Amino acid sequence: VLRGVGLTRRFGATTVLRGADLAVHRGEVLAVTGPSGSGKSTLLHCLAGILAPDEGEVWLGGDRIDAWPEARRTALRGARLGFVFQFGQLLPELPAVENVALPLMLRGVRRAAAVARAGAWFPALGLAGLEQRRPGQLSGGQEQRVAIARALVTEPEVVFADEPTGALDSETGRRLMELLVALAARTGAALVVVTHDADVAARCHRTVVLRDGHTGAARVPTTAGTR
Ligand code: ATP
Ligand code: MG
Repeated sequence: VLRGVGLTRRFGATTVLRGADLAVHRGEVLAVTGPSGSGKSTLLHCLAGILAPDEGEVWLGGDRIDAWPEARRTALRGARLGFVFQFGQLLPELPAVENVALPLMLRGVRRAAAVARAGAWFPALGLAGLEQRRPGQLSGGQEQRVAIARALVTEPEVVFADEPTGALDSETGRRLMELLVALAARTGAALVVVTHDADVAARCHRTVVLRDGHTGAARVPTTAGTR
């Protein structure tokens, strides 16, 4: 459903990606690992249309999205693509349920309908009763679950999560990952997760390792049961 081919991206004199390739299929859960600074976030940003690659192509289904103007790429998020950032992504002045409803309202769904659809995600995420809390009144794990709801509410084709558990303790992070995988499966979305956590990678269908700006499969298979 999403394919990056020969992606190259430079920041000034630094070349971060050198011809990275990545493809993810419907319903697949893909882990992206690699050393700090290896370009994992850059790769996700290129794939999600947040950054334009210097070279290479990004295909979402039959559409080549890297060549689209920025406004059109931005419109993909909250529509065909969802993105869960590491932290600090919720609007602090809005209640949780309105944060989740926002992508729907930006797509023209009327407020009442958007809030109703957003609220429907809360029980499955263990957030029942917290709909009217503001982000500052939620725990870190609860905030991340709200962020997940917001990424999923439009039922995107691909959900990206850049170290969604990075700010959480390992037990909370593990439960959050399980939830993310289960909910993505429910919508049929492909999921691309950046993680440093070998346990998280082991639960994914496949792992891609970013090294020297190139992508490769993990040398040690990380499918469940091998660890
Ligand atoms: P981490 O595991 O620490 O999150 P990462 O693999 O996600 O690292 P990136 O954030 O993609 O790495 O960064 C890769 C390299 O690109 C780093 O050397 C970083 O300093 C550089 N870089 C990233 N974004 C920019 C930017 N906007 N301007 C300049 N350099 C950047
Ligand atoms: Mg990163």
